[in-house]
Amino acid sequence: MQIKVALLTATLALGCAFAAPARAADTAAAGPQRPPGIAPLPKVTSPRLYVIDCGTLTYNRPEDYQLTREDVADTNMSVPCFLVIHPRGILLFDTGLSDRLVGRPLWENVDGGYGQIKFNTLRGQLADIGVTPADITYLAISHSHWDHVGNANDYAGAIWLTQKAELDFMFGAGADPAYLPLYSALARTRKIEFEGDHDVFGDGTVILKFTPGHTPGHQALYVKLARTGGVVLSGDLYHYAEERTLHRMPREEESTGTPASREAMERFLKEKNAQLWIGHSTTFFSNVVKSPGWYD
Ligand SMILES: [Zn+2]
Repeated sequence: MQIKVALLTATLALGCAFAAPARAADTAAAGPQRPPGIAPLPKVTSPRLYVIDCGTLTYNRPEDYQLTREDVADTNMSVPCFLVIHPRGILLFDTGLSDRLVGRPLWENVDGGYGQIKFNTLRGQLADIGVTPADITYLAISHSHWDHVGNANDYAGAIWLTQKAELDFMFGAGADPAYLPLYSALARTRKIEFEGDHDVFGDGTVILKFTPGHTPGHQALYVKLARTGGVVLSGDLYHYAEERTLHRMPREEESTGTPASREAMERFLKEKNAQLWIGHSTTFFSNVVKSPGWYD
């Protein structure tokens, strides 16, 4: 026992003596914002998609989506965030519920009947992949509702890819002052503004799909994966999977762009032979491979 302790002490002493210069060199090479000890940034030759747990919403009013409680397998909603690592850069799509909710009781965080639960931070889960906020090239949000922009300010160092209509909605006269603080840093970030679809890396593998209706500048994300095939991340084009199978939507969206956006999406899915992943569907979320696992 005593010998083991002595050996351990010697090893630690040697470790300290030789580790310091190497650590300084690593830090200098990787830039000042890369924390020591973080896993190396994954290197890829084709797009890789991570599904990150960004919280859960407890909810019991599917009637708001013109569905009954009998229609819906689970009235609660998952809240995913998505990371795409592409050979030319990294895209974060949606930022979920705020990291500040972790460890807080449910009763403190009920908004409009939606109870917010969060067990892990987005920042920590990105670190588990080997990604820091400074590594992220682009930030895009499906839309600016609070369950998608909870951590947007943390990623304002990235280039923000936004529909012009959503930008106007977020910072225009109609912006809700209760939610603006969640994403206020985006007002000052570098951004690329567009109207319609946007090819993120210029090679057709990662495309923001303009699907207005739920909000004026709502967008879904198409990712073409080498092994998995085409996947579309729905944003809130749908909430419950049963909205798609039973052809339902919130009554207030019937007179917006949502019906046309859904029809256009069905045609796109067929054309690309792609799957639709409905992020708020707990059935989808419980079956999908979560980060640090991935799809490629
Ligand atoms: Zn949502």
